[in-house]
Amino acid sequence: MSNSNSDHRGKNANDAASGAEIGAATGTAVAAAGAAASPGAAANADATASIAASAGISASLAQTYTNLIWDLRLLQWSNYFEGGVHDLSLLDSQFFMLAKQFLSRYASAFTPTDRQSEIVRTLLSRDLVDKNPAAAKLRNRLDDWNNYRDDDSASASATSSTSSTTDRRLALARKMRSDVLDLMYIRNGLAKDQGYHSYPDLVLSTEELNRERLIKMLHDFLDANLPHAQHLIKKYDIHWESWFSDLNRIAPLAESFPGTSAPAPSPAFPFDPSTAINRFLELLGLTDARSKIKIAFQDHGFAGMTSEVAPGDIRVMVEPIASLAGFKVLFHELGHALTYCFNQEQDLFRILPASYDEAMAVVIEYFAPRLLLGPTLQKKAAKIDVLEHTRCAISALFELELWESPAPKQPEELYLKHYGRLGVQIDHPELWALDSFRSIDPVYIHNYVIGAVLAPRLYDFLLQSFGDDYHSWGRWLINNVYFDGRKRPFSEKVASIYTI
Ligand SMILES: [Zn+2]
Repeated sequence: MSNSNSDHRGKNANDAASGAEIGAATGTAVAAAGAAASPGAAANADATASIAASAGISASLAQTYTNLIWDLRLLQWSNYFEGGVHDLSLLDSQFFMLAKQFLSRYASAFTPTDRQSEIVRTLLSRDLVDKNPAAAKLRNRLDDWNNYRDDDSASASATSSTSSTTDRRLALARKMRSDVLDLMYIRNGLAKDQGYHSYPDLVLSTEELNRERLIKMLHDFLDANLPHAQHLIKKYDIHWESWFSDLNRIAPLAESFPGTSAPAPSPAFPFDPSTAINRFLELLGLTDARSKIKIAFQDHGFAGMTSEVAPGDIRVMVEPIASLAGFKVLFHELGHALTYCFNQEQDLFRILPASYDEAMAVVIEYFAPRLLLGPTLQKKAAKIDVLEHTRCAISALFELELWESPAPKQPEELYLKHYGRLGVQIDHPELWALDSFRSIDPVYIHNYVIGAVLAPRLYDFLLQSFGDDYHSWGRWLINNVYFDGRKRPFSEKVASIYTI
């Protein structure tokens, strides 16, 4: 979530799993669905009636599920940024009830006959695992580090040297370790109960991703980028403990934007952030989006976060920009926002899978420096890309192997095996347990690498197709990717450019 506890700088709330209070809509909708096609009735019905019944179930379920997602996102935003103290476990149980009632009582009468039905089925299959009370409880406990802090850690935090920071993180990781492993064990077991090979297979099915192709893509990405990443780590003296602040040093504000003598934290570079966004949207002919996206610059411990908290209510929160890396985060978040903004679907197809959502954010993050900044900064942006996405690819391969057998002692060995490839010294492999991508957003980190592979290909495709007629770039994105949300698989939208 924050820079320090995850493998990536940004975060979005798209698939975030937690909860909130909610009215009785859930139970009502499920009851209505049951009335439309009770198991007994379906058993005696002919094929046509069965299909009609399952369509009725799925439409009702989709509506209920979508409403729960909006409730979740709104309360989550409130908790993160508005001082809200909503108990999200209540909403967890609503999701779980919906999944359980559907899959235990109606699944036999439910034959997915259309895309919406199939998507509902996989999403509820995942909720049956993630929102299972035992899993949800552990997940929510892990989401708050205060649950693992010693009483005396507040006084220890008075010092802020790297070593004391590392000590504190290490102490947290050691305390969280057994909960992280328990959560993995529970999730894996519940996924296997449903017939999946493992929890990652369940998640990847909701994402419509092919496991073998994904793993091959991650290996191919590392083969192509690892030597360059190792070189950059040496050149910029990047350390494991201070990775993200070290990335800021590749092009800090003062160095990045000479001619603007304003020192950090004033975000002054060739344009201030708002001007940069306006300029980018103007170039692509997407200025309609500006009034529909609320952007705030505040430091909440997140590099950036974007959420559509209600249909059409799109919010971006980013740290004040102090470096080129921060500039990239801003446009990454804008990438999420544009994906939501130009989605003309309502209901279930408005809720985007993380693979699509995250990849398109990486695409805009890739486009912005190339369209707005000069050649020197473009080269530096490419270096940051290599470092970030190589780390993400390694993180994903580590995680996929970890899920195969999360036995005691093994995580640390696996961590050293995978992350050691970066050529950085890793003194404390126990820190693996602190990474939010192992518990809060599991089986997620690979989505950044999908974006990293797609972005340059899409950029080249648009450049070859339209040259510097950037309005045509924007139109292409709307007409081929954004407009129909999840109605078509992401792989189909970009099939002419890249086989996901
Ligand atoms: Zn993102």
